Amino acid sequence: MSLRTHKDIVILGAGPAGMSAALFLAQQGIPCTIIERKTFPRSKTCGDALSGKVFDVLKQIDTNILQEFSRSANAIGCWGIKFIAPNGTEASIPFQQAFNTHPGTLPSGFIMKRVHFDHYLYEKCLQSNLITLKTETEYTEVQRTGIGYQILTSYGEMIDTKLILCADGAQSKFAREQGQIHMEAEHFSGSIRGYFKNVSGFEKGNFIELYFLKGVLPGYFWIFPLPNGEANIGLGLRSDYISKDKVNLKKLLYEIIESHPEIRQRLQGAEMVGTLEGFGIPLGSKVRKISGDHFMLLGDAASLVDPFTGEGIGNAVFSGKIAAKIAQEALSQFKFEASFLNSYDQAIYKQLGDELKLGRKLQNLSVYPWLMNFMIGKARNNTEFKRTLTAMFENVDLRAKFRDPRFYLKLLFNKA
Ligand SMILES: Cc1cc2nc3c(=O)[nH]c(=O)nc-3n(C[C@H](O)[C@H](O)[C@H](O)COP(=O)(O)OP(=O)(O)OC[C@H]3O[C@@H](n4cnc5c(N)ncnc54)[C@H](O)[C@@H]3O)c2cc1C
Repeated sequence: MSLRTHKDIVILGAGPAGMSAALFLAQQGIPCTIIERKTFPRSKTCGDALSGKVFDVLKQIDTNILQEFSRSANAIGCWGIKFIAPNGTEASIPFQQAFNTHPGTLPSGFIMKRVHFDHYLYEKCLQSNLITLKTETEYTEVQRTGIGYQILTSYGEMIDTKLILCADGAQSKFAREQGQIHMEAEHFSGSIRGYFKNVSGFEKGNFIELYFLKGVLPGYFWIFPLPNGEANIGLGLRSDYISKDKVNLKKLLYEIIESHPEIRQRLQGAEMVGTLEGFGIPLGSKVRKISGDHFMLLGDAASLVDPFTGEGIGNAVFSGKIAAKIAQEALSQFKFEASFLNSYDQAIYKQLGDELKLGRKLQNLSVYPWLMNFMIGKARNNTEFKRTLTAMFENVDLRAKFRDPRFYLKLLFNKA
């Protein structure tokens, strides 16, 4: 077997971004090779909440996905969000697709451990003879060549390619070395999560719960229900605050569990399953250059996580879809230079730019406990605010609203 091959498109990393790009390419009849360092099934440190955006994108690959997830023993439907303010004020907001509106209504979001969600995508990739998935294979180096890039793998293979879709996550070597994307503490979060069983006190409808607590702002502590009586419990905090206040996330998580009266009560008799795992979250609070000669950056490698909600899977699969579309155009016109691939940046920020900006604004406001008390108090009876907060998880398009100054006035003063 020759150790030197040529592939038109190589995808680095088989997470939601990389695998959705491969599936959208296959839908257009375009073959690709994915290089993934782990073997499946594999876990990924995450909160495991899958928002409406994830399904709006993936429905275009599998029209039955919502039905499939509703039947899956590994997923539970999520019908809303509960926000808890530093002073204990709670606002439980059902999604627009309300629980039990009529029989057979499907939820717009789900919670499913990443080991299962990523495996679902992996199996979809295996079903396509256009997708070559090389697992347990790490890319170790990339070099620019006359036609594009040469990729060196841990097996000593050399793969020449015209186009790289880089989707290897928050610690992407390629994004750092070729895309010049470097970790900036004020646009990055540190986070930690653990699986627990026997947690009590969940809302009907499996609401995800975001606790905005002093010491975790701007960020939050979460409890997300999972199937089989388990829960994903964790917290995330912006990295500049972690450094400034010398925060030990593990210690902070245990302190909250032990000292917060309501959380302590809910976790009495609970038991951790496995260990606490930490990982970084690259926030989309800054517009970056996410393509260049012969490459596009996807998902976390492009820092597309919502700065306020911490939601990254929806934007990762969306970037996979857009990258596949631009890749098809690049292949058919034989144009792989940065000026052509810049249409990827434009399409991504046209769709996601406004909501990422709003996410940054809300994140900045959430620094102040009194403001979070005010905002969550407001969310209890302000329809506009309720809709805005849940729409960010449901994938309701708010772009037109964001541009209308009256929208912000209504947010503050409307009680209807
Ligand atoms: C604690 C935590 C909680 C979160 N909670 C949520 C949540 O509830 N909901 C949500 O939507 N988002 C959440 N996120 C964000 C979400 O996890 C990411 O946005 C999402 O995983 C991004 O997908 P991706 O495909 O870009 O990258 P990843 O999922 O990170 O996938 C990257 C892939 O690349 C592979 N790889 C890396 N390096 C190499 C290499 N050198 N060679 C080959 N392969 C390589 C990795 O093994 C991996 O399979 C959370 C993140 C964290 C850390």
